[in-house]
Amino acid sequence: DPVLLWFRQDLRLSDQAALAAAISEGPVIPVYVLDDEAPRHWAMGGASRWWLHHSLKALDDSLRARGSRLILRRGKSADMLAEIAKATGASRVHGLHHYEPWWRNAEKSVARLLDLQLHDGGLLLPPGAVRTGTGGMYRIYTPFSRAVMDHMPPAPPHPAPHAIDAPARWPDSDALDDWRLLPTRPDWAKGFAKDWTPGEAGARRNVAAFIDDAGDYPVARNLPSIEGTSRLSPHLHFGEVSPAYVWHRVTSSSHDATIFLKELIWRDYAHVQICELPTYGSANARDSFDALPWRDLREAGADFTAWKTGTTGYPIVDAGMRQLWATGWMHNRVRMIAASFLIKHLLIDWRHGARWFWDTLVDASYANNSVNWQWVAGSGVDANLFTRIMAPLSQSEKFDAADYIRQWVPELAGLSDAAIHDPDAHDARPNSYPAKIIGHREGRERALNAYRQMKP
Ligand code: FAD
Repeated sequence: DPVLLWFRQDLRLSDQAALAAAISEGPVIPVYVLDDEAPRHWAMGGASRWWLHHSLKALDDSLRARGSRLILRRGKSADMLAEIAKATGASRVHGLHHYEPWWRNAEKSVARLLDLQLHDGGLLLPPGAVRTGTGGMYRIYTPFSRAVMDHMPPAPPHPAPHAIDAPARWPDSDALDDWRLLPTRPDWAKGFAKDWTPGEAGARRNVAAFIDDAGDYPVARNLPSIEGTSRLSPHLHFGEVSPAYVWHRVTSSSHDATIFLKELIWRDYAHVQICELPTYGSANARDSFDALPWRDLREAGADFTAWKTGTTGYPIVDAGMRQLWATGWMHNRVRMIAASFLIKHLLIDWRHGARWFWDTLVDASYANNSVNWQWVAGSGVDANLFTRIMAPLSQSEKFDAADYIRQWVPELAGLSDAAIHDPDAHDARPNSYPAKIIGHREGRERALNAYRQMKP
């Protein structure tokens, strides 16, 4: 009998334990189910859909090169898999573990109908593989990271198979174009293709390109004006490359990759947190933050719009928000600055910001997005202090963002390095660029006041 291979956020053929297991059992029917119901509020956002379209296309091409193909269905995962199983005589499903709450629910439903076999490989270590002295899950990053390091390196990655046995008869498949994952009018994603090549081959090219620069990462990663990071986040999110593969490739170079590897471990950490606290994306991990008097969006709506559209009058924030809109990605340092500005200077609930990121990031990840937003807000299990308020203008100077601002805020391109971070202070603001929507000191005071009103 054929076996089903259930693809989700693991759109690759190499180092794919579910594929390896399926191949060893018989003809394989690779399936991707688009289920917009189960995640409800967290159905994939617009930028992620753009990515998904291209990644599925790339996966189907690679499968076809090996004598196979990708079957597409839209609906409830369990229903669709059961339907295909019935039509083809399959009873077993192989897949990788995923930890978003809606995936864990879907797994339970599938397991009620079919023989579901789940495998590891989406993270460096499956959640629970390392535990604290008392047997619990780590809630603090640093000891977690140390414990993970003790188990590294991960097992060496497996190459993709050369051929995949096809079933005697293929079940019906939707046509990818009918899913309309790509934006039509206006085509806000027209700039994406310049920056990104979704799919396994593009992911591997990014890994290879990064290895040459890995030695500069400890310093370069903080400088938004240069391409100093791996830009692997969407590839990792969609599982086009395994973290084990990235680990082995990066440590095979002559550079000390420790700092980079620790970032990769943040991804594992975030996934452990959503396992422990599935509501991480919608509820404060620290209850005390439920009492923080955020501004109501009816009052703060114009400020929220200014943030989303990159017109706050803070050049570093605006550059980041425009980079996000144009490319589906934002530099990590700038994500922190922009998030902090929304939460503290504008006193807008982190959940509104996280939601905007969810829709606009090509790497939008329930774990990474939620955990990082709550880290910035101070409401997370392991978090920055709310009262540590980032000064966007000095961050911009400190991390040398002048060229980054020139690229994304062209109205300011003619300003000097000295003036560009804070044009108002240098009397250099062109009319085409907005004045600050709130002063730094004023925003800071308001945030600290709100924090004081929170119950202890
Ligand atoms: P690199 O610096 O090259 O890091 C390599 C990989 O490590 C990344 O691809 C990513 O998978 C992982 N990583 C790095 N930093 C973090 C981190 N802080 N937390 C978790 N994993 C990390 N990352 C996402 O993948 N999806 C998100 O939705 C997301 N939302 C964020 C929201 C906010 C407010 C902030 C501050 C950060 C967010 N990040 C998110 C984390 C980080 O900004 C991105 O992973 C990083 O910028 C991606 O670029 P890169 O691949 O070049 O990173």
